[in-house]
Amino acid sequence: MIIPKTPEEIELMRESALIVSKTLGMLAGEVKPGVTTLALDALAETFIRDHGAIPGFKGLYDFPNTLCMSPNAQVVHGIPNQKPLEEGDIISIDCGALKNGFYGDHAYTFAVGEIDPATEKLLRITKESLYVGIDAFRKGNRTGDVGYAIQQYTEAHGYGVVRELVGHGLGRKMHEDPEMPNYGRRGQGKQFVEGMVVAIEPMINRGTHRIKQLKDGWTILTADGLPSAHFEHNIALVNGQPQLLSTFSYIYEALGIISDEEKPFIPA
Ligand code: MG
Ligand code: MG
Repeated sequence: MIIPKTPEEIELMRESALIVSKTLGMLAGEVKPGVTTLALDALAETFIRDHGAIPGFKGLYDFPNTLCMSPNAQVVHGIPNQKPLEEGDIISIDCGALKNGFYGDHAYTFAVGEIDPATEKLLRITKESLYVGIDAFRKGNRTGDVGYAIQQYTEAHGYGVVRELVGHGLGRKMHEDPEMPNYGRRGQGKQFVEGMVVAIEPMINRGTHRIKQLKDGWTILTADGLPSAHFEHNIALVNGQPQLLSTFSYIYEALGIISDEEKPFIPA
């Protein structure tokens, strides 16, 4: 059952989402060769608590850490460890925060130093597909319309769309209805309702869409060992339109990137 939020609840959710956005912005300046994902995890936990929130993932379904850190061929749900990042790696950082009873949950895939052009393109196309998906999150549409849009956009480049893991509704629980697959058919699935909040999160592989799981019970990685990218935003449906609650602007500020990709989804 989809649980729509009141305008006041949406403002609280924006607050939670922005704590995650700021955490990712802080981390953007720290992602470099030699740093361990466990060190970044500790920084994130302190930052989130300093902002009056608690880490959203830690302890959720018994996940051990604040961040899901998934380098290179890992898709999502990687566990932070002592292995230093290396020049040429990519690292998906997924972060959750809980404040005022509401969750924020979003993710960005960072390049560590210089990366090869094929992987750089994977990151660009995956991030673009997130906005293509958000644009389909509109009154009258259904979950299949968002999935269709993301699938068409990414498969056109020969990429694999992960099937087993999906976006989701968001609120007082990290995972609410509806499921938001990154593949689908137009006009199929659950219909969107005013006030709902979702996490849209394409997980796109450079090669096959197939995945496997490590014996740690968490880490998901590509079956062929090729890299995978993951970008996630939190979006509310307001006046029938998608409205971003999270932002990559803190990341861009840290990295000196100029971008207007979020502009269509931010209220004037
Ligand atoms: Mg997430
Ligand atoms: Mg999510």
